[in-house]
Amino acid sequence: EVRVRFAPSPTGALHIGGVRTALYNYLFARKMGGKFLLRIEDTDQTRFVPGAEDYIRESLDWLGITPDESPWKPGSVAPYRQSERKEMYMQYALDLVNKGHAYYAFDTAEELEAMRERLTAARVVQPQYNSITRTQMKNSLTLSKDEAATRLASGDPYVIRIKIPLKEDVRLNDMIRGWVLVHSSTLDDKVLMKSDGMPTYHLANIVDDHLMGITHVIRGEEWLPSAPLHVLLYKFFGWEDTMPQFAHLPLLLKPDGNGKLSKRDGDKLGFPVFPLNWTDPFTQEKASGFREQGYLPDAFLNFLVFLGWNPGDEREIFSLEELVEAFSIERIGKAGTKFDIAKAKWYNEQYIRTKPNEELAQFLIANAKADGITIPQEKALAIISLLKDRVTFPSDFWRDSQFIMTAPKDFDQEVASKKWNADAGKLLTAYAAALDTFHGPFEAGDAKMLLEKTAESEGIKLGKVMQAVRLAITGMGAGPDLMQVFAILGSAEVAKRIRYALT
Ligand code: GLU
Repeated sequence: EVRVRFAPSPTGALHIGGVRTALYNYLFARKMGGKFLLRIEDTDQTRFVPGAEDYIRESLDWLGITPDESPWKPGSVAPYRQSERKEMYMQYALDLVNKGHAYYAFDTAEELEAMRERLTAARVVQPQYNSITRTQMKNSLTLSKDEAATRLASGDPYVIRIKIPLKEDVRLNDMIRGWVLVHSSTLDDKVLMKSDGMPTYHLANIVDDHLMGITHVIRGEEWLPSAPLHVLLYKFFGWEDTMPQFAHLPLLLKPDGNGKLSKRDGDKLGFPVFPLNWTDPFTQEKASGFREQGYLPDAFLNFLVFLGWNPGDEREIFSLEELVEAFSIERIGKAGTKFDIAKAKWYNEQYIRTKPNEELAQFLIANAKADGITIPQEKALAIISLLKDRVTFPSDFWRDSQFIMTAPKDFDQEVASKKWNADAGKLLTAYAAALDTFHGPFEAGDAKMLLEKTAESEGIKLGKVMQAVRLAITGMGAGPDLMQVFAILGSAEVAKRIRYALT
């Protein structure tokens, strides 16, 4: 059975790259009839941010990509928070020590710093604790057996490091990148167990993926450099046969393609990169979310999936079910994808057009209510169908219907100077009079017929005065279907507005 996981660290708000990782994991699990797990990787207590876990949960729920197993819905491999699993990791680290693949290191912070300075002075570009430097340091490979044992017994602080083999090619076959080959001499002896008894990301991640039966690791490209180390760990544990397959997702780039999209780009460039609004609990800095800006969850998902994947044909609109059907890891690209907020807006517009008017009317009614105005359902529905093809966000309905709610006091002077003429005045005077005698429901068709009849009897060509008519009733030179606007306003209001405009 396919089992995949999304393994965020609760170190802040989930940003768009993380949500994409979650989405691809979700789609792959559904497609393969497998399970999608969420594991909270909170072993680094110094970077723990309160509220981050709730944020992750709420974001995924908003998008409808809720994990099958998680801290909030534990399955058979619970617990799903690494902090609650911390007792488990030491035995695995000790297992590697016993097999000779890991060792105790007693170096103090000062000793490590001195080593780095020595290497920097010797012009070593990347000073690291590796197969060469470890021979000069204080660890169970260089100390005598007795001395190491004494230090351990006396409670000296220590870490456990992996012993990277001296000369070995490490290979992995990434599902997106193909074969990746790294020589072990470029790897360092990463810490597996910290001096506080907590595992590092690397150890906990591999142990948990193994214990949780993970079959595929789908994650961001920033983890590719760690993958060879992970492959070695699987080998040293003797878990090669069940080692998951790796798929490293392409980077998300800034809109101009220059560099990686960062959490800070969003508000700076005027678009959200977070699913939900977020206030950093330490700095109190606020960052905007897609949800609050008015993106619909299905539109946002549809936008998101294309940041790195494509179906191989021209289709662009996919429901979540259709995505499950169409998705495959083979169609994820290697190259970084530019983040294009115009495309996100386009998706939102497309989705708004497919929503039932009743659903959209709720937004209009709520936004109006917030301004202290009650809009009857029927009028709300009429406004929705008038503006549906013209808005980007649900809140635009209320913003863009202000000209309906309030009669214009001012008129666009530029349009007036170009389009206003004696014929327009003549026609409007006659039209207002005709409206006075109109009774019964006033549909767009009625408004139009009456206007055409008036124009005909006045001997005026409608085409030449239409913009002036619009200007008189709305104050603007352009806008949505005018006859529908008349119908929403009602015959009496149209007549009233005409008379005001003529004064
Ligand atoms: N905890 C890691 C992160 O925050 C998980 C990386 C992985 O998926 O292995 O992204």
